[in-house]
Amino acid sequence: MSSIISGRGILYKATIVGYLMLLLVFVLFMTAKYAATSNDVLPGSGLGYLSEIEVDFQLNSTELSDEVIEKGKALSSQKGRDIVIVIDAGHGGKDPGAVGPNGALEKDICLAIARKLAALLEKESGFKPIMVRDGDRFISIIDRLKFALKNKADMVVSIHADAFKVKGVHGSSVIYHPRNKLERTQHIGQLVLKELGKINRLHSHGVKKQAITVLAARKIPSIMIEAGFISNASEAKKLVTKSYQNKMAHSIFVGIRKHFYSQPPQGAWVANMSERIRHKLNSHGETLKTTHLLELPVHF
Ligand SMILES: [Zn+2]
Repeated sequence: MSSIISGRGILYKATIVGYLMLLLVFVLFMTAKYAATSNDVLPGSGLGYLSEIEVDFQLNSTELSDEVIEKGKALSSQKGRDIVIVIDAGHGGKDPGAVGPNGALEKDICLAIARKLAALLEKESGFKPIMVRDGDRFISIIDRLKFALKNKADMVVSIHADAFKVKGVHGSSVIYHPRNKLERTQHIGQLVLKELGKINRLHSHGVKKQAITVLAARKIPSIMIEAGFISNASEAKKLVTKSYQNKMAHSIFVGIRKHFYSQPPQGAWVANMSERIRHKLNSHGETLKTTHLLELPVHF
């Protein structure tokens, strides 16, 4: 009898030890999980959840490790949807657009800048670029518009280069459709124009209104960028260079990014991230100022 009791006692103790072991494993697992998700957060190109040390490192460096980019990308799919940016490279195929005095074709410049912009957004967590055309082909304006609607774009950015009979006319512009009454459209337009003003002279200091069909989606913020005047010899020369195309793409990217961090759409990964920045600032006794969201460092 007593041996049975002590046998049961051993069994009982073994069960308790078993439970304790399980509890320990659970606690260790949760600690690891918490540690992995409670790190400080910085939005940037491909930046996911980073420790404070990593943040300092990222703030002071211009390069991102592949590991960080992958981490950011993995997390971006878990924590809300991507913001869809439809990039419309103007003209294409049988429609060359304007032709520069140097023989440059507008359609090629549009595509080059569009590809560079798509590459920047592709690297950035929380954004999904979709190109209307990624090759030299003709697409009707109506089909471009339908494409944006079909892909449920959060915004459309159409890229062109201007031309005018007076050869001296120059400068970059941002245009929106006068009937597009979305506050977002104007805000994105102003932010992008401001960035463009840092790399080129502006043709017009305000966002221009023009009834352009590709910008006519009623519920989609839509802007057109005129990268510069291809009819102006010195601008045409710049427009064909990779370095200028990179600068142009980067300015558009920064403007778009600033807008979506300051006014993130509900359910977007960027909204989640923006909220975490607010929390972080609060925990440091700071309140959120627009500059916190607008002046975040950008890596590319
Ligand atoms: Zn054009």
